Amino acid sequence: MFISIRGRVLVNVEALNMTESVGNYVKHRRVPVIIPETYATYFVPAISGESIAHGFQEVLAEEAKKNDLPVCELCKKGIFLKSTNESVFKESFGQDPPKDEFEFERIVVGNCLVEDVGGFLYAPKAGGNVKRTSNFYTGYMIPTKEALENVVIEPQLHSRYALGTKFVEEGQMIYYVELSSAVYTFSFDLDTGYIGRATFVYDKAGQDIVNDRKKRIEVTLNALQKFLIEFMFGAKKTRFLPVVEWESLVMAVSDDVWTVPSPFTKNYIDKARKKLERVSYDTKLFVYPEQGEFEEVVIDAIDEAKQKL
Ligand SMILES: [Zn+2]
Repeated sequence: MFISIRGRVLVNVEALNMTESVGNYVKHRRVPVIIPETYATYFVPAISGESIAHGFQEVLAEEAKKNDLPVCELCKKGIFLKSTNESVFKESFGQDPPKDEFEFERIVVGNCLVEDVGGFLYAPKAGGNVKRTSNFYTGYMIPTKEALENVVIEPQLHSRYALGTKFVEEGQMIYYVELSSAVYTFSFDLDTGYIGRATFVYDKAGQDIVNDRKKRIEVTLNALQKFLIEFMFGAKKTRFLPVVEWESLVMAVSDDVWTVPSPFTKNYIDKARKKLERVSYDTKLFVYPEQGEFEEVVIDAIDEAKQKL
């Protein structure tokens, strides 16, 4: 089963993805984006795929714990080092890493849903790498084509300052946080084909290595539903909680890889429908706002996905 999600979301006053801080100045992430037709390049605010993936894996870890599915010691705490080396493996799984590559993947997948779904890369100093590619795909959120030329990043001044106290003389603490507001694109795909299955050793790829594959996929889909509905990603949300409004969303549920066209241009929903006329793997589209409230559309799509299991 393959689920593809594309959307456009208005995010006002956000500081969801910050890069370095220079002194007391915290910078928003920026990326170069080219406008079609003119090919002019703009440096615009963006939210990285890593940031989105981190958010999703946090929800996934929580859902796994709630449903008695295994999560390793580190992923459990939202630390996604994901079997980087011997000591990380030991801390995560309470044993030494096995030498056999198939056995290695089996232990990681069997004992951590986050690494089953989100992949890992084991690269010990002595060599003998083992890797597992993520079963979900996401990328940068960038301003949509219409928003691109007008988007701005604005540093906002804040102070921790208490007049009338002796601390004032010690210096006024001021700081700047760059904020932005834009209609952003959103992209996320999930391919369940290899969840709970071996991938690394060529002649064993595709073999089941767990006995609860269906439950794992169901829990992953529940996590995806919660992640979308509650917009659970991004940093600085304790004091810079953005004002979020989904403009549109398309979810496609298929038997094979079928991706929704890019939401960078406004006509992506029409493009998705036209694509469906030509290509379909028992593909069904779920479209917000046409087919109901945001939550309704997400839940309908996730239910459809569950029926395919
Ligand atoms: Zn883990």
